[in-house]
Amino acid sequence: MSNPRVVIVGAGFGGLTAAIELRRAGFEDVAILERGSGLGGTWRDNTYPGAACDVPSHLYSLSYAQRRDWSRLCSPQDEILRYLHEVAREHGVDRLVIPDTEVTACRWDDARAVWIVETAGGATREADALVLATGQLHRPAFPPLPGRERFTGHAFHSAQWDHDYDLRDKRVAVIGTGASAVQLVPEIAPEVARLVVFQRTGNWFLPRRNRAYPRAWRTAIRRLPGLQAWRRRFVFEYGESLTAMIRHPRTAGRLGAARSGAFMRWQLRGHPALRRAVWPDYTFGCKRVLFSSAFLPALARTNVDLVTEPLAQMTPAGPATADGRVHDVDCVIYATGFRTTSFMFPMEVTGAGGASLRETWRDGARAYLGMAVPGYPSMFIMYGPNTNTSGGSILVYLEAQAAYLRQALEHVEAQGAAALDVRPEVATAEDQAVQARFGGTAWTRCDSWYRNASGRVVANWPGYMREYLARTARVDPADFRFLARPEPAGARAGAGPQRRAIFKE
Ligand code: NAP
Repeated sequence: MSNPRVVIVGAGFGGLTAAIELRRAGFEDVAILERGSGLGGTWRDNTYPGAACDVPSHLYSLSYAQRRDWSRLCSPQDEILRYLHEVAREHGVDRLVIPDTEVTACRWDDARAVWIVETAGGATREADALVLATGQLHRPAFPPLPGRERFTGHAFHSAQWDHDYDLRDKRVAVIGTGASAVQLVPEIAPEVARLVVFQRTGNWFLPRRNRAYPRAWRTAIRRLPGLQAWRRRFVFEYGESLTAMIRHPRTAGRLGAARSGAFMRWQLRGHPALRRAVWPDYTFGCKRVLFSSAFLPALARTNVDLVTEPLAQMTPAGPATADGRVHDVDCVIYATGFRTTSFMFPMEVTGAGGASLRETWRDGARAYLGMAVPGYPSMFIMYGPNTNTSGGSILVYLEAQAAYLRQALEHVEAQGAAALDVRPEVATAEDQAVQARFGGTAWTRCDSWYRNASGRVVANWPGYMREYLARTARVDPADFRFLARPEPAGARAGAGPQRRAIFKE
């Protein structure tokens, strides 16, 4: 191997999975540039009370790094972060992480067929391949509330939890009722004096108790051969069944809605007004179905109010709703999600001929199999457009993507090329096929962060995990153009010694 230089941006699950795959295949020159102080990505950032994954850990873990000692069905944030550290260490990729290194721009140099990666502070680094693994959910979104800065109390975002602020006995507002809010509200509700939860849209719920595994179960999973694999398979198929409900809202989806509706009615028995207030007015599965057995009972507490009146502005005392009411609070917690559909990179990306990715994606982000963009040679995206999942584990997708980009780079090596570039007609045909598959599904039946302003679904994969696995299992070299190495090769600044040796051949 000519030892191509691979720069990965982001040391979350995506970046680390890519690095592990490349290192296992013998790619030696891999660096992971990380803006934060350490690895972990979303699991380092999101430390709000109750933060946990709502995908069971037997599937929310890498296939080659299985654990038999998960504390509960859905691991809490600290357990997942610990797992990520352990896996990175076991595979020797923790030492590839260069922390406190914010990438500000990535530019493809046509003449020299390399990526120039610029970091804050002005340093640059060259790469033969670029992997963007900055995730879809890392830039906190705040509602465009007039006067937001006028609030005189304390305020923070759920993804930037202020652990120094004591919520006990305070009057607190939580804005938003998405996946983060439903985890944190039941945790803080018993502590605070008053909690006002602002809901814009109701959600569909399914049960999740998430008690600690009993000792007998933990022993069984440790000792009984095959139980762990069966458990993973079971969760995989459960996830696929959820996708079936979203894909087929008139049939399977009705079963999902009925199950969810029965659960919600049971949870809110004796609270008919609250039940009406939280009831979703859109098709089951259009937005993320939320797994919680604790959120709706928390809303029914005597110290909790649910407000469905739209927010109008922020006043010095607290949020004001459209009916003119000001909700006096000491603290506002924005559980308002992330800036996602604008996709996605906190840096400038410039491809062949000086094209800007922002411009290339002006009608919505798109990438071949979520990973490759025509005109951006040897650039791969982890968790890129149309690879989010509503029913499965994103780690299944990330593993598939890591294997795919590793294969692609092996083809570059085998052909003695400088880089590869997905053919525009191949990418366009795939994009059309992906978009066509959304027709008739629940995803198109409401507004959500999965869709951009024009209604195009930019975040999600339209099918099952097994389909994505099959689609990405093998790289077809015919889908790509291979770029010749420029001359004079030996003069390339910064090229590693092995690479120079190849150029001399
Ligand atoms: P989110 O799902 O985008 O929810 C944001 C919430 O804020 C929604 O209730 C939204 O209302 C509300 N909101 C946004 N802008 C608003 C505005 N201007 N006025 C009033 N309300 C507003 O964000 P999240 O809860 O942080 O979750 C984001 C994603 O992170 C999830 O979908 C999931 O993929 C991931 N996540 C996963 C887990 C897990 O356990 N696996 C846990 C947390 C997060 P609308 O519904 O009306 O837009």
